[in-house]
Amino acid sequence: MHEFVAQDHETLKDIAAWAAARLSDPAGALPPGHHPDRRPTALPAIAGDGVGMEAAWAWVRDAVLPTAFPTDHPRYLAFVGGAPTPAAVLTDAALSAASIYGGSELEAGAVVAAERAALRWLGGVLGYPSTAHGAFVSGGSMANLSALVAARHGRSTASGRPPAIVVMAASAHASVRAAAAIMGCDVVTAGTPDGALGAGDLNRVLDAHDPAEVVAVVASAGATNTGAVDALGEIAEVCADRRIWLHVDAAYGGAAMLAPALRSAFAGIELADSITIDPHKWLFTPYECAAVLYREPARARAAHRQQADYLEAAHDGDADNPADYAVHLTRRARGLPLWASLLANGTDAYVDAVERCLDTASYAAKQIEANPVLELATEPQLSVVLFRRTGWQGDEYARWSQAARYGGLGLVTPTVFAGETVLRLCFVNPRTTGSDVDLLLASLTGEVR
Ligand SMILES: *Cc1c(COP(=O)(O)O)cnc(C)c1O
Repeated sequence: MHEFVAQDHETLKDIAAWAAARLSDPAGALPPGHHPDRRPTALPAIAGDGVGMEAAWAWVRDAVLPTAFPTDHPRYLAFVGGAPTPAAVLTDAALSAASIYGGSELEAGAVVAAERAALRWLGGVLGYPSTAHGAFVSGGSMANLSALVAARHGRSTASGRPPAIVVMAASAHASVRAAAAIMGCDVVTAGTPDGALGAGDLNRVLDAHDPAEVVAVVASAGATNTGAVDALGEIAEVCADRRIWLHVDAAYGGAAMLAPALRSAFAGIELADSITIDPHKWLFTPYECAAVLYREPARARAAHRQQADYLEAAHDGDADNPADYAVHLTRRARGLPLWASLLANGTDAYVDAVERCLDTASYAAKQIEANPVLELATEPQLSVVLFRRTGWQGDEYARWSQAARYGGLGLVTPTVFAGETVLRLCFVNPRTTGSDVDLLLASLTGEVR
């Protein structure tokens, strides 16, 4: 007989010590860098006979994980990073050991209530009424797909077919286009990729389409590339007039609503029929934790609840089943780490952490403006800073970015803004400091670092 390796307390202790070291020093305990020297020559082969827990963990710890660039490194400023709180990470680890099926109340018990409380808090941040509800899903991509499926549910056009046009802000995330493709829908864009969408551009596009053919309008509350927030109040009015479902993608930007100074920029978001917000981006929760929220959850439930004889037991009575609000059935209770972290840290700590990221973004913008060879490409929006190094083209940006990554200096990648290659910084880590910004900028301008 071949048995699974037994629990090994020494390895468990080593994993715990490793995790504790990582959490206390994200930049140190797991050296980043994809330098060829650090890459393992080959991973061991999976074989009929196992190597044991201790040896397998050693491979993971020493050969696999160190080649990744952790998103909570203070100079991970590419894409949209994520810097989970220790409370959220520890709860996430415990959740794996707890082996909980998070799809239904029948199995998950009060775990469902805790996730509901976390969703309620998110809804409150977004200005939604307490009757709004939804589910935690793996990512913003699944949240967007789930919302669009709910928007289309039960509708048909004059021809008897379901509506098949998704109208999205040109700045909307790539996942909206992907969701439309999965659903067999065409995409029509409104506005420009570089700016915020307003009612004028949206009306021009909608005038050309029968509202019955439109699945939904998707607006951005914090475009991934630029941080731009669409004119949500105007857009909500247009959608209400035309009776079109409004989905607001706040996957990255929604967290900025915690900062009182920025709340007014989002006015109107509370009128959206559905909203995506990703706690695994700027709300300090480990992957994979995104949320889709619906202002009127009944429609989403009708769209997503799976029916089968073997599921009837879980649907009993008024069961509050997270499985019913998105494209999933079996699911990890990925909202529990957020709930435990909110409980442990208090919501004020979340406000401060978001504001610290905004302050660091402002600091970076000031340093760039003051530097003779750096220029802002546009005014910073939320915590995204786009800028150029004068005289540099695409190749120079790519070479610098790669050297910074190989050398472990930081992860910063170029993007395109208004047709020009520029550098992009996105601040979602409260541990990123002005000195981190200084280090990166100095390396760009050729000063010693
Ligand atoms: C990141 C992002 C997404 C996709 O979210 P995933 O969690 O990566 O699937 C969707 N929309 C916006 C605005 C994003 O920034």
